[in-house]
Amino acid sequence: MDTAENITYLLKPGELSLKGGNRAAFERVLKQNLALRLRGTGARINFTNGRFYVHCPAGSGPEVEKVLERVMGISGWAKTIVAPKTPGAVMAACVEAALECRERGARTFKIEARRTDKSFPLDSYRLRRAGGDAVLEQVPGLKVDVHKPEAVIAVEIREKAYVYGTARRGRRGLPSGSAGRGLLLLSGGIDSPVAGYLMIGRGMGLDAVYFHAWPYTSDEARQKVVKLSEIVGSYGMGIRLHTIGFTAVQARIKERAPEAWRTVLLRMAMMECAEKLARMKRLKCLVSGESLSQVASQTIENIACTGSRIAIPVLRPLIGMDKEAIIRIAEEIGTYETSILPYEDCCVLFSPPHPVLRGDVREAGSLYEEQGLSPLIGEALKNRVTEKCAYP
Ligand code: ATP
Ligand code: MG
Repeated sequence: MDTAENITYLLKPGELSLKGGNRAAFERVLKQNLALRLRGTGARINFTNGRFYVHCPAGSGPEVEKVLERVMGISGWAKTIVAPKTPGAVMAACVEAALECRERGARTFKIEARRTDKSFPLDSYRLRRAGGDAVLEQVPGLKVDVHKPEAVIAVEIREKAYVYGTARRGRRGLPSGSAGRGLLLLSGGIDSPVAGYLMIGRGMGLDAVYFHAWPYTSDEARQKVVKLSEIVGSYGMGIRLHTIGFTAVQARIKERAPEAWRTVLLRMAMMECAEKLARMKRLKCLVSGESLSQVASQTIENIACTGSRIAIPVLRPLIGMDKEAIIRIAEEIGTYETSILPYEDCCVLFSPPHPVLRGDVREAGSLYEEQGLSPLIGEALKNRVTEKCAYP
């Protein structure tokens, strides 16, 4: 039985199970990520027959659950009762789980049973029946509803018997780091943190780069980006944030370029700088928060201009999403509150009232070259400040 000192969580790996030959590699990354994220909690991780088990002292429960809610690559998890493999002990565990369900307000239940160990005397049908009877008898106030139960009590007969009444949905996706590393262009806005989160969910490990235009953008604006890095990184393995001072680049564009082209040219400069950084750090792609036609700089023509001078792939996970859907994710992952803090980002002061809407790639290229930005970008890159933003 579950003792006072110990809690066991049962974790079902997510999409991992679809990955055929790569499966073992994905599981290894998930295990590593769990081990790193659970460091200091006293948790022990065990992987047997397609399931992860996390054993931890009772006091670490809340902390462990916070991690399980966030880590990618888990399709579901539950705090489970561990019982010896005898029918009596399993029935008692069903009753214990049912009492918990009733306590949190459930009035109806059903039992789901799976028997991996075929030597257990009850097959899954009889397990369901016997478990249901035990609960009906000993937990007044709970009724069976096989179609829309308010509580599902799961019984799994494996190396031991596992019984749980509250299964939680995991974040799914793939374990962060299993799909290589990329560089997120992170502004203080709503979109780019969501873009980062989505790529972490596809297994990507992230560094982030923030282009800062001090003193035109404040230290508060930068702090906001640090905070966003912490939150986004909490769904992966943390984020290394590179802050790059871009004031000189912006000033040059403001001084020399046709006003309508400023934003597109600045984006091109950011991309060039980010590509250089990515190559230095062996990051395989850039990730941006662009969404088609959301603002003038994100028409398909201007996106073509923005990416026209770099060869590294640019992933734009929000490209087909509308703002409302993006905001919903931002709220769910906890970045929204921080993103809407009022500190201006580096483009506001500098954006033209009438930007080019459909830039021509060749014109963009020659204007860009006229600015002579490369030395300024090189200098900015050299003076970058890097910090590790750990999960809070
Ligand atoms: P966001 O909400 O992410 O700021 P946005 O809708 O404001 O996006 P833009 O400001 O046009 O759009 O920026 C488009 C993308 O360019 C951002 O999603 C981000 O990936 C990148 N970007 C913009 N400004 C910066 C910056 N100062 N530092 C790093 N990346 C930036
Ligand atoms: Mg922005």
